[in-house]
Amino acid sequence: MEAMIIPQCNPLASYQRLKVDIDAAISAVLAQGRYVLGDQVAAFEKEFADYHGGGHAVGVANGTDGLEMALRALGVVSGTKVYTVSHTAVATVAAIEKAGAIPILVDIDPKSYTMCPLSLQSALKAHPSGGRDVVVVVHLYGQPAVHWQSIADVAKSHGLLLVEDCSQAHGAEWRGCKVGTLGEAAAFSLYPTKNLGAIGDGGVCFMKDHDLAAKLRSLREYGWKERYVSEVPGGNSRLDELQAAILRIKLKHLDKDNNARRRIASLYFDGIENPRISMPAKYEDGRHVYHQFVVRSPNRDDLREHLKARNIGTLIHYPVPIHRQPAYEGRLPMPASGLPETEKAAGTIASLPMFPELEDDAIERIVTALNDWVS
Ligand SMILES: *Cc1c(COP(=O)(O)O)cnc(C)c1O
Repeated sequence: MEAMIIPQCNPLASYQRLKVDIDAAISAVLAQGRYVLGDQVAAFEKEFADYHGGGHAVGVANGTDGLEMALRALGVVSGTKVYTVSHTAVATVAAIEKAGAIPILVDIDPKSYTMCPLSLQSALKAHPSGGRDVVVVVHLYGQPAVHWQSIADVAKSHGLLLVEDCSQAHGAEWRGCKVGTLGEAAAFSLYPTKNLGAIGDGGVCFMKDHDLAAKLRSLREYGWKERYVSEVPGGNSRLDELQAAILRIKLKHLDKDNNARRRIASLYFDGIENPRISMPAKYEDGRHVYHQFVVRSPNRDDLREHLKARNIGTLIHYPVPIHRQPAYEGRLPMPASGLPETEKAAGTIASLPMFPELEDDAIERIVTALNDWVS
């Protein structure tokens, strides 16, 4: 008999597990009659802010919009420089350009895959900030940016604002603080496969500052201050009631789900023993929530074929660095020394199956397959 397929991620399993609650919530919203920016969105925003220890959450249509509007709300305008990594979802850089800003790319530290503060300094040297520019720090794979303190020090000395892209790190902590509470503002994608995922598109921004939140609320709906009166040019990026009702249920399960991911990671750490496979680095001062479990091998493509032949799904996050993609190649500023670690990572990484419902016998099969691999 052929082995059952183990997918790399599985949003359906999340729905099935919470089906009774989700179906009831959907029915209630349908019957209630208000479908966009209503009580469910307001309640979700309140609960999401409370989860982050108070402050303000603003629901939006997706993570890309959230990041763009957070930047705009902070005063980013045409020509503002925004320093960020090339090793991230293309959405990070797309959002920066949508806000009218110039993305300046920074290399990663090869162990954590998060922003390298030395490369940030090199980028600032090659492309100096004119003041009131921004650094967008990405907490990638569920790992809080491990060099946050050094990055914050560099940012401070250059007068740069810090914005967090938390789309892969809902509930992660750096030195006891939730990601999203470290910078001026944060954007979270709520795409179905994220640690906190809707059943469709969604996003949320978090910030401590009341006025900044008010700006974001206005930007997400035509620049309105009051209904039908646009104070600033805005757009439409609203969260709907169905998604908010579903997200309220999922938020209640977020810590438990993140613990399930951490448990799977520890089973991978305990079980995988293959000199050809490098495991993720572990850090003391963060709480990693394992959006992805990323291993590394010079023969990565062969490893993926080996797993695929055993019906085990993998993905690459991300196979082509942003500065090598057709839309961006050759036109984005970066340090004089380039982005060598970003390029090396893209050619050697693979993301193993990782979702809270992944069962022990599946994990065992994955571990065995990895240990059996001789390239
Ligand atoms: C998913 C993701 C986004 C984009 O979110 P969307 O909801 O798809 O717009 C942005 N940044 C990172 C790091 C992501 O993983």
